[in-house]
Amino acid sequence: MNNPRLTTNLQAIHHNASTLVTQLQPLSIEVCGVTKATLGNPEVAKQLIDAGTTSLGESRIENVERLRHAGITHPIMLIRSPMPSQVARVVAHADISLNTELGVIEALSLEALSQDRQHGVILMVELGDLREGIMLEDVEAVLRAVRQLPGIYVKGIGTNLACQSGVIPDNTNMSQLSDLVDSLESSLDMELEIISGGNSANLVWAFGVDSHIGRINHLRLGESILLGRETVHRSHIEGLKDNAFTLTAEVIESNTKPANPWGSRGENAFGEEHPRQHREGLVHRVIVALGRQDTDPSGLTAPEGFTIIGSSSDHLVLESLDGEASVGQELSFAVNYAALLAAMTSPFVRC
Ligand SMILES: *Cc1c(COP(=O)(O)O)cnc(C)c1O
Repeated sequence: MNNPRLTTNLQAIHHNASTLVTQLQPLSIEVCGVTKATLGNPEVAKQLIDAGTTSLGESRIENVERLRHAGITHPIMLIRSPMPSQVARVVAHADISLNTELGVIEALSLEALSQDRQHGVILMVELGDLREGIMLEDVEAVLRAVRQLPGIYVKGIGTNLACQSGVIPDNTNMSQLSDLVDSLESSLDMELEIISGGNSANLVWAFGVDSHIGRINHLRLGESILLGRETVHRSHIEGLKDNAFTLTAEVIESNTKPANPWGSRGENAFGEEHPRQHREGLVHRVIVALGRQDTDPSGLTAPEGFTIIGSSSDHLVLESLDGEASVGQELSFAVNYAALLAAMTSPFVRC
């Protein structure tokens, strides 16, 4: 067995995606299933498609290409603004991209013409989180310009909150987006098909008793599907499974040692000062061959009977509460989003 390894429970992902699709249906909100934390894993994508998502969302063109090469023909949205140097690959493999820069959309237009393809564009609007987005007062002018571009069709508008500054989606900012749609449609005499209100952080708002859904008809959902939680308070969403991913690693030392270090102490390998442990006597310490080169150890939850004491590049140090742990034994950890992402992108973790 190759360790460490990340195990994916595809049934749990299917369950979560189809539950969210079903729950959002009465609100007339469709789901874009975001695969970016799985590096565009085609097996995960197939579950999302089967569960009723209307498109897939990916942040990296490499992952979009991986999905296409695996034979996935479902509509794919590039959910990060395209790099100007990658517009050819974007037009070739993604159906739609989220955009904020007219210059990039002009480059997409030229490329679409030369590839004899049509590329869909969703204009992202800034509503306070201060990551990607066109300022509200500029959206109409950009939309007028984009509408003229050959090879480009305007698919809709969207926004993204809660990622950079933690701004919470609520009736106020979502109504701003809805009002903008109404005003754009009347002044430009056009219909906007997709109104993409945001990500997993929008679910608390969407399912709230006093939510005003307005024109929002689309959400891009990643973490809620993969880990079963919303992202404003990181609380578990009732009815969803939180065990889709498990990170398994191997015990390489298991020994009874003093609870407290000895010798004079400075910083550790990562420049952190250790708080003094107010403990006496002996504890059972276990080292697992897993470290910061494999995952984000602060995002791991230890199996029952163990607590995580610390980590360095290659070692995860645990305390075993019942003293049971043998060298060579495997221990499995639950992951949060940061730990999942780091494990997925580590060359040392088998997925
Ligand atoms: C990552 C991302 C999403 C998905 O976010 P989750 O919190 O995982 O649901 C949606 N939209 C954009 C633009 C993103 O970058």
